[in-house]
Amino acid sequence: MRYLILSDIHSNLEALEKCLEVARGRYDETLCLGDVVGYGPDPNAAVDVVRNMAPVIIRGNHDKACCGIIGGEDFNPYARMATIWTRDQLSVRNLALLRNLPSGPVDVNGFQLVHGSPQDEDEYLAGPEEAMDALLSMTSSFALFGHTHLQGGFQLNADGFFQIIRFYGLRDGCVFTLQLEEGARYLINPGSVGQPRDRDWRAAFAIFDSDRRRVEYYRTSYDLPRTQAKMRQAGLPEPLITRLEFGR
Ligand code: ZN
Repeated sequence: MRYLILSDIHSNLEALEKCLEVARGRYDETLCLGDVVGYGPDPNAAVDVVRNMAPVIIRGNHDKACCGIIGGEDFNPYARMATIWTRDQLSVRNLALLRNLPSGPVDVNGFQLVHGSPQDEDEYLAGPEEAMDALLSMTSSFALFGHTHLQGGFQLNADGFFQIIRFYGLRDGCVFTLQLEEGARYLINPGSVGQPRDRDWRAAFAIFDSDRRRVEYYRTSYDLPRTQAKMRQAGLPEPLITRLEFGR
């Protein structure tokens, strides 16, 4: 089975549609790791696309805040403004869908989907200490996570060797293929579709091939000026608009 893994779409329709165009014909099923909304200008369109293609969508912290499960008081002021704007925009139907999304971990055919970490849906697995803790306490050997918007992940080999999975792929398309090792544990982050933070502005996603036991990481350029123009039109905060072009 080839799974298209989408995470942290953040209401960025241009990035989402471009990822789907690049991935077309290369996968069997879609899984979404949360944060469909928040920050970007197209919350309803993003939810509509994902709800129609992904049988499993878990919730992210922005999904929770935008549908009112949490207040978003701990968000920075710009994120909070975007949350309030998004809540106003969302249709009754899409608000209901977001309210009913499951929290991670969700088990899919022997592996796990989480937004933050297997222990805590809101935890950021950004550095080796948190990742090591998570890898050691995982109940499956393979988990997909998002939340940090950093494409890559972490690996713990059978002999106890820990690795951070990072790479720089300059061309659009598949930028790195990770062959999974027998007996190793993995936390894999497909990267963020709609607001990457690894200093590469291009939309990110991954395809997990469970038969060939490998992860293919992708990057693709998209019509960023169009997304930014929509954000200005909507009156979303300028720092959220400019950060997109720096991948921050
Ligand atoms: Zn996010």
